[in-house]
Amino acid sequence: MNRLHHSLIALLVALTTWSATAQTAYRVEDVPNVQLIDYTHFVSDPADAIDEADEAALNQRIGHLRDSLDVEIAVVVLPAIDGDKYGSAREFANELFNTWGIGKKETNRGLLILLITNEDNREITFEVGYGLEGELTDGLCKLIQKRRMIPPMKEGRYGEGLLAGVEEVRKVLTGESTLEAEEGDDTNAFVIMVCSIWWLLGGGAFAALFSKERKLAKTATSYSEVKELRREHNISVIGTGLLVCQFPVVLFYFLFRLFFRKWLRPQVKCEQCGAVDRFTQEKGYPTKEKRPWGKLWTYHYVCTECGHVKEEKIFKYYWWEGPASRRSSSDNDSGSSWSSGGGSSSGGSWGGGSSGGGGASSRF
Ligand SMILES: [Zn+2]
Repeated sequence: MNRLHHSLIALLVALTTWSATAQTAYRVEDVPNVQLIDYTHFVSDPADAIDEADEAALNQRIGHLRDSLDVEIAVVVLPAIDGDKYGSAREFANELFNTWGIGKKETNRGLLILLITNEDNREITFEVGYGLEGELTDGLCKLIQKRRMIPPMKEGRYGEGLLAGVEEVRKVLTGESTLEAEEGDDTNAFVIMVCSIWWLLGGGAFAALFSKERKLAKTATSYSEVKELRREHNISVIGTGLLVCQFPVVLFYFLFRLFFRKWLRPQVKCEQCGAVDRFTQEKGYPTKEKRPWGKLWTYHYVCTECGHVKEEKIFKYYWWEGPASRRSSSDNDSGSSWSSGGGSSSGGSWGGGSSGGGGASSRF
């Protein structure tokens, strides 16, 4: 008995649901044409999705717009449309618009606002008459929906959304709408946000370069290796920076370098007297000897405390050079950048302590 009961109830429920869905899938000819019944009614809401107060407000405002701006607006609210017959809500709206003939024949200033409330397929559609298309562009229709109508409608407040949409249409037609400006502001804010994140990432990458250089400077045993690393960093910062739009970070990188150049000084220790970071580059260096596919650079650094000369050799690979060399010696710019950077208190010898050839040289 109980089982039979349950089966019957299940069948009944299934039948009701089926008939309900069958009923709610509207075709154009099923939509009640409210204008035929009452000249002051513009809202066709056969399933009563919006409450009476909102409907009355809509009728009143749309009536006012018809009288003041020569626009005919029809609002149609349906639970669903017949998906077998219509490929899209736009298709349905277009057919309904032309069936009813919204807008005066001479001016074609008609607008159909179609709202489909089916939870799985909720959609708001504007169909615009020829005479209105110049003012109420596709882009503006989309904006009105996105910014004014969908937010309340998402929470089921359909009447509120429709009223907001009609109000914005009025503003567009009277030139009071600020929608496009709002959208522009949002776009700007978005661009600024994206740039900030991008530059922050760039800043992070360059901070990593700094820390690498600082680490090497603290433990360095040779000046030229630090110099090489710095050269590589500078090239990659400028190269990638310009390539991937990191201009502010590139600028910041070089400013930071300038202000914190002391931190980046190689802490090279003199083998003879133990003084740290007391070397100056000897004049006439580096010398450059041709080698196949590159050059051998030789630096001489003189300890200002004891005169010990530290020689450093570094091979620079130039794929374009081959066996022939075209560069000559002078490369003082790289040397001067850090010989002027000394801020040490004792000795004061960074200013120009050139070597007269005295002291000792120890090759290693
Ligand atoms: Zn020394």
